[in-house]
Amino acid sequence: MLNETYIKIKAKVENISLIRVCVASFLSNTNITLDELQDIKTAVSEAVTNAIEHGYENDENKNVEVEMKLAEVDQMVYYWVKIVDKGVGIEDIELATTPTYTNKPELEHAGMGFTIMETFMDEVQIDSAVGEGTTVTMTKKLKTIKS
Ligand code: ATP
Ligand code: MG
Repeated sequence: MLNETYIKIKAKVENISLIRVCVASFLSNTNITLDELQDIKTAVSEAVTNAIEHGYENDENKNVEVEMKLAEVDQMVYYWVKIVDKGVGIEDIELATTPTYTNKPELEHAGMGFTIMETFMDEVQIDSAVGEGTTVTMTKKLKTIKS
């Protein structure tokens, strides 16, 4: 394990920028490309935004947990992230991950969050149970080698 961290934030949209800074800082000791960093920041932001806006419906009394790891396997560096909310959960994951599906069209959601995560990361796993919450786990193999 090269590094790992755990961040717990209040479910406020203002904290999405905090998570983006944390991701960038966490990866700053690698020679990650700007493109890779941008992809990861975007994917993590989408998952955290979903946890806040859908999971908790912006209830600031709730917390979103973000855990990140950087590991080296066979001389390749992997970034791993887990975003956890204990909110409403997702009833139908297949429907939720369908491009352009959103349950909040009136709030100008494009229904593209999961599609963005799947495009920018190598693996995206969604575990969810109604009334219990949602966990999104993502990994990305970095092109870079450890600096
Ligand atoms: P956009 O991300 O483009 O603003 P969106 O958030 O609706 O729109 P997705 O991020 O793809 O689109 O999510 C699709 C749907 O899955 C959401 O509309 C919501 O119904 C459900 N969903 C996603 N994440 C969660 C979560 N953490 N808890 C509960 N429901 C979720
Ligand atoms: Mg979304």
